[in-house]
Amino acid sequence: MNTDLKHSWGKWPDKLHELPDQVKSIAKIREIENFTIEREQGYMDVVSSSDNKSTYRTTLENCECRDFLITKKKEAPCKHMYKLAYECGFRNFDVERYDIYKLVEKKCKALNSKQLKELAVILDKKFGKEIQ
Ligand SMILES: [Zn+2]
Repeated sequence: MNTDLKHSWGKWPDKLHELPDQVKSIAKIREIENFTIEREQGYMDVVSSSDNKSTYRTTLENCECRDFLITKKKEAPCKHMYKLAYECGFRNFDVERYDIYKLVEKKCKALNSKQLKELAVILDKKFGKEIQ
């Protein structure tokens, strides 16, 4: 394993990945289809799913997409960065947990952000021990 890349990914605190918005980004990694990865160099080029024309360059610390630059204000990884981290083997994402979260979210549009956070705590208690 490339230790420089591991160090890059390590700059994101583990707790960050448990926040509801981040859980959503992680759930979306399986929707990313059009990409090429350079594992040794630690970057990924991904075609935008919104317009199918733009290409984003993603590293473990940065991404050129709107979500990372504007929505997340570079303070948390976007789905592309999670995808890259996953493909590089830096993180074992608990797919079942994210599927359940997604399902509940879809069915409970009425939940406010506080309730979503409470839900995340419940899911942590149920699945937390199984997460690597
Ligand atoms: Zn991105």
